[in-house]
Amino acid sequence: MKKVVVAIDGPAAAGKSTVSKAVAKILGYTYIDTGAMYRAFTSYILDKGVDPKNESECVKLIPEVSINLYPDGKVMCSGKDVTRVIREPLVSSNVSYIASYKDIRLALVELQRKMAGEQSVVMDGRDIGTYVLPNADVKIFMVASVKERADRRYKENMEKGIACTYEEIVADVEKRDRIDSSRAFAPLKPAEDSIRLDTSNINIDESIAAVLKIIRDKVGE
Ligand code: C5P
Repeated sequence: MKKVVVAIDGPAAAGKSTVSKAVAKILGYTYIDTGAMYRAFTSYILDKGVDPKNESECVKLIPEVSINLYPDGKVMCSGKDVTRVIREPLVSSNVSYIASYKDIRLALVELQRKMAGEQSVVMDGRDIGTYVLPNADVKIFMVASVKERADRRYKENMEKGIACTYEEIVADVEKRDRIDSSRAFAPLKPAEDSIRLDTSNINIDESIAAVLKIIRDKVGE
């Protein structure tokens, strides 16, 4: 079977992980959630009591941090199960600072490229098509309106029992978009050869079908 690499980028809560996970399962590819890696690093920094806005102190922790993603969605960070905590508002509101530090990005990108290895993957993030896997066979830039994204994330948090207000979610999504798009190194932006998919007015099943069609049209899978 031919190795296929699918890169899915886009702003916070556009539906990337739900859709990527489902598409990977249908096609028998490995799903890699790079946002979970930045979130895991952030939870480690918060645990250590280091100020997430202090770049030099955060960067010093790189050698201590090991991150493992498992097929069932479990995320381990330096021996601790952080699967749940990385979705908490405290991590969400700090992760974009951590993701703006070049040395931390370089360490995680190395890991991401290694994980993509020799297998077919669907990798989602912000810089996959532009920086991590620039030779990806398929590049999709998934977007949705801020209102739609906030509605979905709020519903998801309520279902998972994560306490937050709707206003906090809107503020978090807007803040992360702003920091992610304006950082100096590997910012959030569509790759020139990416296909834009707006999921504002389509549901999850329709989004999955749209992504599968883009992949089939490109690589004939
Ligand atoms: O995808 P998710 O929303 O969980 O990502 C959390 C944060 O991690 C993003 O807001 C962004 O700051 C950072 N991130 C990144 N590059 C990636 C994936 C995520 O900068 N490839």
